[in-house]
Amino acid sequence: MRKLIAGNWKMNGLRADGTALARALAARHLDAGPDCELLICPPATLLAEIAPLLAGTGIALGGQDCHPDAVGAHTGDISAAMLKDAGCAYVILGHSERRREHHETDALVRRKVGAARATELIPIVCVGETAAERDAGRTLAVIGAQLSGSLPALAGADPLVIAYEPVWAIGTGRTPKQHEIADVHAFIRSELAKGTPRAATVRILYGGSVNAKNAQDILPIANVDGALVGGASLDAQAFWTIALAAGD
Ligand code: PEP
Repeated sequence: MRKLIAGNWKMNGLRADGTALARALAARHLDAGPDCELLICPPATLLAEIAPLLAGTGIALGGQDCHPDAVGAHTGDISAAMLKDAGCAYVILGHSERRREHHETDALVRRKVGAARATELIPIVCVGETAAERDAGRTLAVIGAQLSGSLPALAGADPLVIAYEPVWAIGTGRTPKQHEIADVHAFIRSELAKGTPRAATVRILYGGSVNAKNAQDILPIANVDGALVGGASLDAQAFWTIALAAGD
């Protein structure tokens, strides 16, 4: 399966630097696209402005969250249809920063996945253990519970992406050992296989301190179908180097 390299810009980027970064990536892609799929998820304020900059480049656009309802009185929120209307093909859901800062539960994430699917956005559902959970030997139990709680029935043919993001690896410069990533990704694949015969087609991304230096060690690991990149996605050269490592 072709790997997917996704950039999560989080709450970074004003119009000038956000569009400059998108233009830099678009120019590189048109020049010589890497052998992987590329996705950027800028802040919501930049989506409509960046969409035309990516048109025809092959780089996809995604949102960082959506509301579970289709429309209504939800001040400050964004619906899946609004993301689609702004040019998005993907949406990140259940990121650990949203689970922590906005008290998002598995049940809420599951409803958001339903909203994304209803709008034909591809959900990227994030799961991952905290340091305390890993130290207690509970990593697989935590991830199993997050998967079963956050995913609606998988019988349909709707595309789905899972991102394994250990909470303790996000923004810290620390990453799990290669065999630890392999173990979790194999576990996620086997859990998905319990719910759908097409588990092999679900991309499972690794996320957490992926950078231009470690990408070549992480991306070849079995069942790693790409990366969700935070900090390093804000630098065109670093993001590009990661994308090139995905094609090796
Ligand atoms: C993320 O938050 O999705 C992430 C992977 O961040 P970073 O790459 O900065 O660790």
